[in-house]
Amino acid sequence: MNKNIRNIIRGMFFVAFFSLWLSGNAQSWGRLLLLGLLVTPIWGRLYCGFACPISSTIDLIGYFKPWRPTSKKHKEIFFDNKVRLITLLASLALLITFIKTKFPVPFFVALIPIGLVFTYLFGEAAWHRNCFIGTIYSLLGGISRKGYYIQNDLCLSCGKCEKICPSGCLEIKPTGVNNIDNKHCLICGKCQNVCPDENIVYGSLKNTKTKAVQKAFFD
Ligand code: SF4
Ligand code: SF4
Repeated sequence: MNKNIRNIIRGMFFVAFFSLWLSGNAQSWGRLLLLGLLVTPIWGRLYCGFACPISSTIDLIGYFKPWRPTSKKHKEIFFDNKVRLITLLASLALLITFIKTKFPVPFFVALIPIGLVFTYLFGEAAWHRNCFIGTIYSLLGGISRKGYYIQNDLCLSCGKCEKICPSGCLEIKPTGVNNIDNKHCLICGKCQNVCPDENIVYGSLKNTKTKAVQKAFFD
């Protein structure tokens, strides 16, 4: 998808989110989250790539001052499923606390500064792997019928896509088969935009070796 069209759609969701908040209806954003979850097994994590206000805020700030990348050490910690489970449980506990105490700021709004601080400290990929909404979405992202994949026979192995991916879900090797981990792919399209050979495409994963190779690389 054209980058400008994507940014316009994201901007519209961003404005809609803050309009809902200012009109006292931020909680109704939950319906969109649910809809995003329902479509994930078909089209992938569209909510993350188009609608998430946390992701959009991170991108907006990163446009002016790029975030430092997630270090190897932090990847080892925050890509670990046990750590992700602990973050998920802590986030759910926080959500319940917000509801029970009738906290004046809606939980979805409070997640934005939390996401920014986390990203500042540990990098974008660490946040995307530990955002509790993203963790729930990743359970379905791995079975999505459509998603981004690399046409390996055309790949130059330049590594540009791997470097730009905010979720750390691309693995490019100097030789051999490269792949995208669709569980964690945010459908942001950044890899597609930087590929000099235009060989990253969004489409059906059925006839690609993506899932089999993904299993070998990431499980
Ligand atoms: S693989 Fe591509 S579309 Fe998916 S999160 Fe990474 S950069 Fe975005
Ligand atoms: S940016 Fe394109 S050519 Fe370069 S490694 Fe990624 S898929 Fe291959």
